[in-house]
Amino acid sequence: MSDRDYLVRATALDERVRAFALNATEVVRTLQERHGTYPAVSAALGRTAMGALLLSAASLKEEDQSLSVEVRGDGPVGRIIVTANGRGEVRGLVGNPHAHAESVRPGKLNVAGVVGTGGYLSVTKNLGMRDTYQGTVELQSGEIGEDLAYYLARSEQTASAVGIGVFVVPDGTVDAAGGYLVQLLPGLDDDEISAIERRISALPHPTALIREGTTPEQVLERIFPEGFTVLDRYPVRFHCPCSRERFERAIVSLGEAEVARIIEEEKEEFTEVVCHFCNEAYRFTPDEMREILQAAS
Ligand code: ZN
Repeated sequence: MSDRDYLVRATALDERVRAFALNATEVVRTLQERHGTYPAVSAALGRTAMGALLLSAASLKEEDQSLSVEVRGDGPVGRIIVTANGRGEVRGLVGNPHAHAESVRPGKLNVAGVVGTGGYLSVTKNLGMRDTYQGTVELQSGEIGEDLAYYLARSEQTASAVGIGVFVVPDGTVDAAGGYLVQLLPGLDDDEISAIERRISALPHPTALIREGTTPEQVLERIFPEGFTVLDRYPVRFHCPCSRERFERAIVSLGEAEVARIIEEEKEEFTEVVCHFCNEAYRFTPDEMREILQAAS
């Protein structure tokens, strides 16, 4: 975990604005390494992961509540699924890590080219006690940030600005990832709204800010020079809750006949199961699988 990766939750203008900013460079770097994503996919997955972290900060009240963002565009990357929780932990996966789209503008990754511009974005919140909420909107641009802002406006009736970016260097590794979410609540007058909008549109790209060494607090200072109140500041990190025990339970749920078939057909000395969220591999020998079934019965 990096000390640089954290999220700030704040309010400004007498609590009529809610603002969130984060640096998630290490999170997105880990996602890229785990899934071996190509640059435009690294950006699409990283933006979705940061979007999920920002939405979690804006809407989860408890640490063990979680929120998933699923992007189903018509582009070559296929589905993007990301889950974040109230502890600032996030994991995610993509359909095709090696999707590619030519840059339209020099030096800019073509995120919409891999995501697609048609399709849907869904947000599912698991608030505990079987309390779930889901909202789905049509993709607006396939650039993710704009799509999340549209989701917040349509499904949650909150006017929001979302700025998120991922900077990938030529060798394919992630050099910077971060951004902000600003939510305008009722009670702001037109002058206040246009002042905030002006400062946001004057901001350099989120990754340019991070590469200059700007902290999340300093990003908020630039949007709210008249002041803001930090409510909370917590680390964000990649984390997958999978474990060998979880896969043991999965083996049990397959049942005796299916496990016997797998053992019969397996040509290796072990069966390998891979977690799609983190690419961690777990190996089970035929004897281990039989023992797991026996222990469960
Ligand atoms: Zn995993």
